[in-house]
Amino acid sequence: MSLTAGVVAVQGDVAEHAAAIERAAAARDRDVTVREIRESGLVPDCDLLAMPGGESTTISRLVHSEGIAPEIRAHVEAGKPLLATCAGLIVASSDPNDNRVEELGLLDVSVERNAFGRQKDSFEAPLAVDGLEDPYPAVFIRAPAIDDVAGGDARVLASWDDRPVAVKQGTVVGTAFHPELTPDSRIHGLAFFENETATVPALEDAQQVD
Ligand code: GLN
Repeated sequence: MSLTAGVVAVQGDVAEHAAAIERAAAARDRDVTVREIRESGLVPDCDLLAMPGGESTTISRLVHSEGIAPEIRAHVEAGKPLLATCAGLIVASSDPNDNRVEELGLLDVSVERNAFGRQKDSFEAPLAVDGLEDPYPAVFIRAPAIDDVAGGDARVLASWDDRPVAVKQGTVVGTAFHPELTPDSRIHGLAFFENETATVPALEDAQQVD
């Protein structure tokens, strides 16, 4: 059974996310069709969803004005997986600490935009990520950090400089870095195919339907 993946395509690395989803699916012998989401009406057909980085102010404005925001919320409420990266993480958070960003409140975390300072605008770090055996080559670009996970259900998957940079809450994975910018698709694999609460139809189920 083929899966439908959506990449929120109002801004950011859309083609790179699509390619990473295809690589993660191929590694598991799964068929996937990736759709770019620029308007409402498409998310309800998606089994899994990625929200790329870019500029969180712009992304939040567009997902709300295009009517995509309530569909992303409904997708998560239905127990389907979402990977929100960098600016996508800021938009998915419950507190962006910036009133220009209208958050979706899908991850109980507050974030600090551009948290790693000017000297470190962009950098790559070998990141130990809970659930991955070897360090992940994480590319940070004007990245946010997660300030606070207190009181919520978000679990920290990785930290850098003592600051959380990857979290998971239910079927939502948020990363401060850009997992679409390396050939290593393990973060997409983790978010979409190794998510214990995700409802992506299992291969065994698919094989039963002849
Ligand atoms: N600095 C951007 C913001 O705060 C995020 C950068 C990114 O997504 N690479 O929205």
